[in-house]
This record gives sequence, C-alpha cells and structure tokens, in this order.
Amino acid sequence: MNDYLKGLNERQREAVMTTEGPLMIVAGAGSGKTKVLTTRIAHLMAKGVDSFNILALTFTNKAAAEMKERVEHILANREARNLYIGTFHSVFARILRAEAHRIGYPNAFTIYDTDDAKSVVKAVTGELNLDVQHYKPNQVYNRISGAKNALVSPREYLVDHHIQQEDMRSNRPMIGQIYDAYAKRCFKNGAMDFDDLLYKFYELLKNFPEVLHKYQHKFKYIMIDEYQDTNPAQYEVIKLLGAAHENVCVVGDDAQSIYSFRGATIQNILQFQKDYDDAKVIKLEQNYRCTQNILAIANEVIKQNKGQIPKTLFTENETGEKIKLVRTMTDNDEGKFIADAIQELRLRNHYTNKDVAILYRTNAQSRSFEESLRRHNIPYTIFGGISFYQRKEIKDYIAYLRLIVNPKDEEALKRIINYPIRGIGKTSVDRALLAANERDMSMWEVLEQAAYFGFKGGTLTSIEEFVLMIKSFASMIDKQNAYDIAFHVGKQTGFVKELFNDKSTEGVQRYENVQELLNSIKEFVETPTNEESGEVGDKSLSAYLQQIVLLTDSDQKDPNADTVKLMTIHAAKGLEYPVVFLGGLEEGLFPNQMSLNTREELEEERRLFYVAITRAKGRLYLSYANTRYRFGQLVQSDQSRFINEIPEQYLDHSYAGGGVKNQGSKWGQGSAFERMQRGFPQGGTPASKSSAPEKTHVASLIQNNKPKEVAHTPSANFVPSDPATLAEG
Ligand code: ATP
Ligand code: MG
Repeated sequence: MNDYLKGLNERQREAVMTTEGPLMIVAGAGSGKTKVLTTRIAHLMAKGVDSFNILALTFTNKAAAEMKERVEHILANREARNLYIGTFHSVFARILRAEAHRIGYPNAFTIYDTDDAKSVVKAVTGELNLDVQHYKPNQVYNRISGAKNALVSPREYLVDHHIQQEDMRSNRPMIGQIYDAYAKRCFKNGAMDFDDLLYKFYELLKNFPEVLHKYQHKFKYIMIDEYQDTNPAQYEVIKLLGAAHENVCVVGDDAQSIYSFRGATIQNILQFQKDYDDAKVIKLEQNYRCTQNILAIANEVIKQNKGQIPKTLFTENETGEKIKLVRTMTDNDEGKFIADAIQELRLRNHYTNKDVAILYRTNAQSRSFEESLRRHNIPYTIFGGISFYQRKEIKDYIAYLRLIVNPKDEEALKRIINYPIRGIGKTSVDRALLAANERDMSMWEVLEQAAYFGFKGGTLTSIEEFVLMIKSFASMIDKQNAYDIAFHVGKQTGFVKELFNDKSTEGVQRYENVQELLNSIKEFVETPTNEESGEVGDKSLSAYLQQIVLLTDSDQKDPNADTVKLMTIHAAKGLEYPVVFLGGLEEGLFPNQMSLNTREELEEERRLFYVAITRAKGRLYLSYANTRYRFGQLVQSDQSRFINEIPEQYLDHSYAGGGVKNQGSKWGQGSAFERMQRGFPQGGTPASKSSAPEKTHVASLIQNNKPKEVAHTPSANFVPSDPATLAEG
C-alpha cells in the first residue's frame, strides 16, 4: 500500500480509491473530508493521471494553496503545479482569458472589483434618471449579484413576474432596467465583475458546444470541497463540465452550510444523488480534530436543527477540558479576559500565539479584541478589513495598468484621466462620457478623436498627450514584462514622484505602499511559475492583473506567522486551531437580530455556531458581555440561546472583570456607575429585554454578513457573491 493511504481509516481509503464515477462524501466537521480530497488528487496522480486533467475547486485561495502544498508533499515532486486547483473564480477567470473573445469580450478583459462594479451601477442609475439615494448602489448591486448567481439574465429579470413583484414591494421597480444597463455598460467596457466570472463562464459552456467539449475532455477528474456552499451558477457549471465522464467527486457537510444568503443551498447535496443515479455516497463518522467534550457539544447543538441530514460523529481523541463559558460586564472586559487568558495559556500550557484564534459573528466585534491584544502586546493578524489592493494609491496605479491592457475600461480611465492633474477636468470628462454613451462608443474612442468631438485649446492638447502616453505604454505589452511596464508607467506619469514629494505621514505611507506594489510585481515576474493560476511563464501584465484582483485580504497575510488570528466565523470555514475563543454570544448579535425571522434563518445561525465550535481542537472558550457599545449606544443583552442548548455537564462557568464578581445573578450588579451606564434603576433590577426599546432599533442596524435588503426576501437564491468575502464573512 502506498504510504499516503496508510494514515487513512477504511472509509476514507475507500473514498480515495474510488476514482471513477460520481462520488459524494457527506460528513461532519473534522472527519477528514479535505484530507480525503487532497489524498485523492495525489492518488490519481500516482495512478498515472496527468495533472493537467485534474480540476479541484475550493472556496478560498488559501485553501487552494494549502491543498497544492499537501499534494506536493505527498508526491514529493513538482508535478502538482499543473493542477487546476483554485477557487471557482480564479479557475474560471483563467479559462475565460483564453475564451472570452467567443462571447464578445477581449481576452484581456478587466475584472471589476466590488467598488468598480458599484461605481458603474451608480453611473447607470443616474443616467436612467433614477435617484441614487433611493436606488442605493450597494443594494442594487447585491440584487444584480443575486440574479447572476441564480443565472437570471437581465431579459429574464425584466419579464419575471415574481421578481418584478418583489421589486415593487421594495418600492424599487426599476432595478431590472438598471441591471440591463449595467450589464451593457460592463460589456462595452470589456469588463466582468466577480459574478460574471461564473455567469459568463456558464454562458460560454452553454452556448459553445465545442468549448464545453474541450473542457469536459480536459477535466477528466473534478473535485469540489465545501460543496454545501456552492450556489446555483457554480452547481450548473460543475454539472456541465462533469456530464461527459461523470468523474465528479464532491465533499461537504450540510451542517456547515452557512452561505444560503448568497444563494447556496443544501439542495445541492440532495440533488447530487438525483443528478447521478449511480452516485456512490460515503459517510465519514470519525472526527480527528476535536476533543470529546468539544465534539459532544457540537453534536448537541446541531441536533436542535430540524433540517439536517442525520449523521453520527465520534472521536477517539481525549476527553479534554470542559468548555469555558465566560460572562463579562462589558465588551471591553471580554477583550481583556481573552488577552489575559492567552497570556496564561502561553505561560502555563505552552501554547504559542499562532495556536489561538478569536472568532466572532460580525467584523465590527474585532475592535475590542484588537484593543486588548495591543494593550497586552500580543501580536495578532486580523483577516477582513481593507485589503492592500483597495487602497487609493494602489488602485490608482493599477488603474493605469488596467487601461493599458484594456483601453475600454471606463472605470480605470475615469480614475486616472486627470491624475496626476493634467488639465482634463470634470466637465471635459462628463462631456466625453456623454458623447460615448450617445454614440455607443467607449470613452477611450471618444478621446482618441477628441478634436472631432469638439474639444479645443488646452484641454485638447492635454487629452492628445494623455492618449499618446497610454498608447506608448500599450506598445510595450508584447515586448516587456509586467514589472518593466509598471515601473515605466510610474515614472512617465509622474505619479510616483508626486507621492514621493508628499512628506506628510500619510504621504510617506502611500509612497511605501506603492514601493511595496512594485516589489510584488517584481516578485510575480521573477517567480518561475505563477503558482496561483498554475500558468507557466505568463508574466504579462494582464496575467498579473487577473491574479491580484482575485486576491482577498486573507491571501496577503501569512497564516503561519506566530500571531493570534482574528476573523469572522465565515472566514474560519475549513480551518482548525488548538485554542478557539468565540466572543459575543449574545441574543441579537449571535444569533443575529436579522436572522430571527424564520426557522431557516435561525437554523443557519445555528450551523454557523456549529462551524465555530468545531474549529477548536483542544480548548474552547465561549464568552458574552452583558453590555456592549454598538453604534454609539450601550446595548444590553441576554446570553445567546445557543449557550442554553449546551448541556450543563460540559460547561465550566466563570465571570471575568468589570465590577463586583457576582456569579449568582445572570446580570451581575456592578458599581452604581456601571448600573447607570446600563440604564438600570439605582439599586434595582436590570431593565428587562422588552423595556429596552432602543435594543431592537440598534440591533437592526448591525452590520453583519447578510446584505440588508436580501435578509427578508423570500427567494433565498437571490443574493450576492464576492470572492473577496466568499470565505471571509
Ligand atoms: P471541515 O468540515 O471542518 O472542513 P474536514 O472534514 O475537511 O473538516 P480535515 O480538515 O480534512 O476535516 O481533517 C481534520 C483534521 O483531522 C486534520 O488535522 C486532519 O489532518 C486530521 N485527520 C483526518 N483524517 C485523519 C486520519 N485518518 N488520521 C489522522 N488524522 C486525520
Ligand atoms: Mg474541510
């Protein structure tokens, strides 16, 4: 038996060795699903399958990189580089770069990130004479995104009775028109947004049988991790690609389905057996990750859900510590408690920083944790937040590069046409845009013929110089690599110099960021293989641009650094840590106020809780604060109902900080000042839930991962997706 098979249990081995035909592995957390998938790839290759013929789709770039690394480790050779392992978005973008011309896009199409996309939505909304205050770009974009992920075209959108009714109800009957105009504008700009990478890829396969045939033939073996979270568009693409050979292997856990708001439904899992009636289904029942205590509470919690596939999960790991349940007075106390506990774990239990993760429901919660970690000098890495590539100076620089590759890219053009200032003001830009829209040309084409379109004098000269400059950059594309072009652009435009001359603290920071960008382009050019896309030797500017737009914040951080990791539960999917702190277990926060409308929503929150618990290998701390500032108001909360679902025998209660210790009362008393802060009557009992009227109001403002206007719509398929947050909630 090959070495890599020896470490597996019997069922896992069976899954690895079942290489032909449709296969589904449904199993609980930590049962080795990802391990099986990775080993299966190695096994296929050991059997002689060409790595070019294997496609593996994961949810994050991080997971893809890890998988590649593990396969390389097992095989101890570099063959793994040719594998198509990546996120849906990165793999599809790579294929579209070879095929996009068939659907009328330039092969060097631009990928619009969420900001670009919203900016286009805003522009076309204005052009349709609709009020952008009412048709908020963010909300409209989410709606469009939902449509694409459900494979609803603008035309279908406009004629679908139910969709129209839904928009009427939300008093936004014109969203379909915006969608239509938006799609046309992106097409004109030679640009795809993140959702288009799925949607257009689907169209391509659907409408071009020869393309479908080519990729069906290429990807003889298809594997998908976290299958429970694939949305309809992804589902359909997989179905098409797998239809010829049916060597499709999916692994998932319905109990960890946490993206139904993005259109993913566990229907995928149920449907798999219907689509492939000879599908083999393997269940894995042994958990290798968690202690018995952790697994026991995970099982207890998920049992409360009605809509789950029944599964048993056991472990032979040690019993482990009880789960620590910690109540604090305020959110700051919660942060302080966690920092203290981490120090103690390091001192007494020999844990290192990187053994520890702090998880939370919403990004906003990270603040109090960050503060206390900083105060305690504990190094940490936070996942989520502004990505390097979203910074203004970086986006400006990249806009130049984008424009060179694709002059139709209107968003890029608008960004830098007058930056650094070169005398092409807003009026001129608006005029050029108007002319472009009237003639159905790109703005770039208008600029190319600026004199013809009536531009005169200094403006005309500036435009002509600008056009000439961009063209001279573009002429480098075929001859020079990404770094040389980028360097030249920085110099010629005067852009880097301008940043250099700004000696304010922010200016210096911006200059350093730009240096960092150039370093990273250099690294891209000098690395022998483009690891992310697996492409050998493509060091072109457009290859570079495609790669970075699909990077998320998490990809830019080193998961192996010796730091405490902070992230939302969504971002923690698939990961594991020796010690996990789960904060903010309060009613209204987790489960989230916005997810209490239906049983389905509540069950999804509970699955999220299940995911959080099962990230912990050895120690798990659950905490909640009696009061917390949210949106400038002090809010008081009860402990989360999820805590009540954990049998007492597994819990070890404690109270930490912020006033007089009082284990008896759920609310504690605290000092008079604290009671006043909390709004309690002097010396009396805390205000009951119902007598805290601001609570619902404030809670409904909570930013969570769920797009607001979607949270209450009945059609679960109608929701957004964004690779930047696909895994990071
Ligand atoms: P999740 O549902 O959270 O994604 P998973 O089912 O994908 O979990 P893995 O991450 O593959 O589980 O495995 C969980 C842990 O158990 C990993 O550390 C893995 O190396 C280990 N593991 C899996 N199978 C075995 C085995 N047969 N022997 C020893 N360790 C194993
Ligand atoms: Mg996994």
